Amino acid sequence: MALKNEGSLVPSRREVLKTAVACLALPGMLARASAATGLRISNRLSPLNSKRPRRPHTRYIILHTTEGEEKGSLNKLVRYGEAHYFVCHSGQVYRIIDKSKIARHTGRSMWEGRTTIDNYSIGIEVCGYHNRDITPAQADAVRELLRQLKSLYDIPDERVLTHSMVAYGRPNRFHNDNHRGRKRCGMIFARPEIRARLGLEGAPPEDPDVKAGRLKVADPELFAYLFARRTEPVLVAAGAAAPLPVPATAAVPSESPLISLNRTAWQIARERYNHPDTVYVFPDGRRLEGDKVQDWGRIPTGTRVLLSEAEDTQPFEGFLEIGKDGSTSAEIAGQAASSATTIYFFPDGLIRTGSELKQKRSWQRLLKTPPKGTRLLVGYVYGGHVQSRRPPSTIAGIKWNYPSTYYRYPDGRILSGDDINANNIPGGTLIFYQQ
Ligand SMILES: [Zn+2]
Repeated sequence: MALKNEGSLVPSRREVLKTAVACLALPGMLARASAATGLRISNRLSPLNSKRPRRPHTRYIILHTTEGEEKGSLNKLVRYGEAHYFVCHSGQVYRIIDKSKIARHTGRSMWEGRTTIDNYSIGIEVCGYHNRDITPAQADAVRELLRQLKSLYDIPDERVLTHSMVAYGRPNRFHNDNHRGRKRCGMIFARPEIRARLGLEGAPPEDPDVKAGRLKVADPELFAYLFARRTEPVLVAAGAAAPLPVPATAAVPSESPLISLNRTAWQIARERYNHPDTVYVFPDGRRLEGDKVQDWGRIPTGTRVLLSEAEDTQPFEGFLEIGKDGSTSAEIAGQAASSATTIYFFPDGLIRTGSELKQKRSWQRLLKTPPKGTRLLVGYVYGGHVQSRRPPSTIAGIKWNYPSTYYRYPDGRILSGDDINANNIPGGTLIFYQQ
């Protein structure tokens, strides 16, 4: 594929004005500075770029590691529009989604009480692994890219975060609460010495959502690693080990693939523990895929967990499935199971909110134990039918074409806001958008 070399970041006129006010830099100065430091950015735009809406707020920069080799990782990120930038081992940078638009890169995420951090952030995928150092050329490129983006959007170092910091998980077989620790992605960028190489002097001093009690810590080892400067006691999820005392430089979390008394399938595979690509090799040599394991309490010590490579496509703050994410509505949605903002998509096509199901006695069993394959949207507004006099923008406002907004067509298809043809939405289409 022919690549068009565009040199440095080219700020839009509005960004130039903002930058000029915020840091008294002129666009020419930015371009010269990057030429001097040799930042090379080429376009490798995602086919989804043109459909992605603009992002009204830019508060954070999120650093990721691809967990896979260069070519395959880049192809996948481009195909699904899952990052704004990709940084190769050589320091070459590819632009995948325009920095002013929304990329899908954080999935289920929370920071400072905000959810779906994609709507507030720029995502940089650095080719490499969460526990391995990056190349000197990558460090140079990321430092310069960060310098420009921080300046353009007026983002302090404390808001340059890692995917592992902002990702969170819903309750599952291993944790009763919404919890931190869903991912290790990008955790290397929490290390003080690596941050220093990226020109970052500050770091988030603590986890604001754990501190406020919105999330529990599911992996104290990872938590200590990410927030090594933390001193206050934290709320630890039931079933997790007690928080470790945090030394000045926290130990690197264990990567052992073996299940033991202190090491559960979740700690090794995280949200992919029950995924068909995750394979359990028992001490007697038997193998079982994650989706076939029945009794999670009885996996013998010494069982080896084989994980597939590459970062998963990120689930949104969206569909959860009975039989996969939990077996009852309470396991998946907790107290929100019977609320108006939990939407049930039953396998036979019926769609109801939790509060509708609660009101009718004959539906109460459906509400408690929906059939396997029922999908739930938690924290969503049932926007009703799209009509010519009631277009999506009237219903969902600015979020009408967000990737996190879903459209259910009369033929049963469900498409995201960035996947629909806005000029041809059939009558009777339903719309669901995040609260
Ligand atoms: Zn990531």
